[in-house]
Amino acid sequence: MGKIELREDFSLKVPDEVEIPYIEGDGIGPDITKAVIKVINASLDKAYQGKRKILWKEVLAGEKAYQEVGNYLPEETLKTIKECVVAIKGPLTTPVGGGFRSINVTLRQVLDLYACIRPVKWIPGTPSPVRYPEKVNMVVFRENTEDVYAGIEYPASSWEAKRLIEFIKENFKKEIREDSGIGIKPISEFGSKRLIRKAIKYALENGYPSVTLVHKGNIMKFTEGAFRNWGYELAKEEFGDLTVAEEEIPVKYPEGVPKGIVIIKDRIADAMFQWVLLRPEEFSVLATPNLNGDYLSDALAAQVGGLGMAPGANIGDGYAVFEATHGSAPKYAGLDKANPSSLLLSGKMMLEYLGWKEAADLIWKALVKTIQQKIVTYDLARELKGAKEVRCSEFAEFLIKNLYEEEE
Ligand code: NAD
Repeated sequence: MGKIELREDFSLKVPDEVEIPYIEGDGIGPDITKAVIKVINASLDKAYQGKRKILWKEVLAGEKAYQEVGNYLPEETLKTIKECVVAIKGPLTTPVGGGFRSINVTLRQVLDLYACIRPVKWIPGTPSPVRYPEKVNMVVFRENTEDVYAGIEYPASSWEAKRLIEFIKENFKKEIREDSGIGIKPISEFGSKRLIRKAIKYALENGYPSVTLVHKGNIMKFTEGAFRNWGYELAKEEFGDLTVAEEEIPVKYPEGVPKGIVIIKDRIADAMFQWVLLRPEEFSVLATPNLNGDYLSDALAAQVGGLGMAPGANIGDGYAVFEATHGSAPKYAGLDKANPSSLLLSGKMMLEYLGWKEAADLIWKALVKTIQQKIVTYDLARELKGAKEVRCSEFAEFLIKNLYEEEE
């Protein structure tokens, strides 16, 4: 039994019996977490016959933590996740009321998880609102620490807002209405480049043909526009031989771009919402500032079956927290009804991150097979003709059965 070792170059040394902390989550969290742990354990058993194992270690956060230790995010939880490097979490209810820092935001900040990564791929058989969901195969890399989400915001008429308005008027001769709230949008070269670097590395390592920088630089030149420019600059400086800017293709590769070379392109954010619907096959890895990525990830998830099916992870330099992308759906808490697929696919991402690809592949195959058999939870059953609706725990049992029947 052991902990993951984080090497100096931020790669992981993973022992065969690895300790992984998990946060059960609020609302539907306990139901889906229980199901997912069972399926992941089965995938490891089938793939490695006992040679590789996860030793699950529960850490507290959210309502359960508040009830047991009077704190929504105990210090102990942060410490354990940091020591173990990789963790998985169910959804957490955001407590209502002022003065509270979101648990998700705190986790991101403490571990500096600067990239929110969302793979978006259709599972055959999943109900989808578009005609060709099979054409969608994208991975969104969303910057997680900057932009209008940096938390530098002041309400209208506060002294901070008034002083900023005055300062801007006096020093920069720009008028802002007196009754305005003010938010600041910082986008740095450091923050942009480390995110885009991660996206390009991912595309190269996983055989994706392009990285698209999605920005609104035509309007916000020195934040979103700079994100785009820094992206091209970084690609040239650090991955010069392995990438090509889209506009350089006719000169550099008139016969066509060779396999293995990643095309760097950019699209304006609003147009991008059209392109992902009209020509999804032209895009693979996307790198975006925080706000664009937030909108785009959910819109893309809808194209392939909704948030109940969409996995995600927040990753920094080595540290990684894998999570369900939906919320805690309190309406369905304890009913054993929720769809565990989002958390399960996040678990699959986690296995890939650990380098345990065989188990990850088994999970994908089992999920595809189960959905094609039209065995689904209530959320998909209502959109799928002829579906057999099962409970969350039953869905896990069917997944495990299919997983064991899978050829290796
Ligand atoms: P939600 O995602 O929890 O639920 C909205 C609706 O989506 C549910 O009523 C349900 O119909 C459906 N749904 C969601 N997940 C499902 C699943 N796995 N299976 C089947 N159906 C599912 O969104 P909400 O109601 O806006 O938020 C509830 C709470 O969750 C809030 O406190 C919110 O802040 C929090 N939240 C947490 C996270 C997170 O931890 N990452 C993300 C989003 C929302």
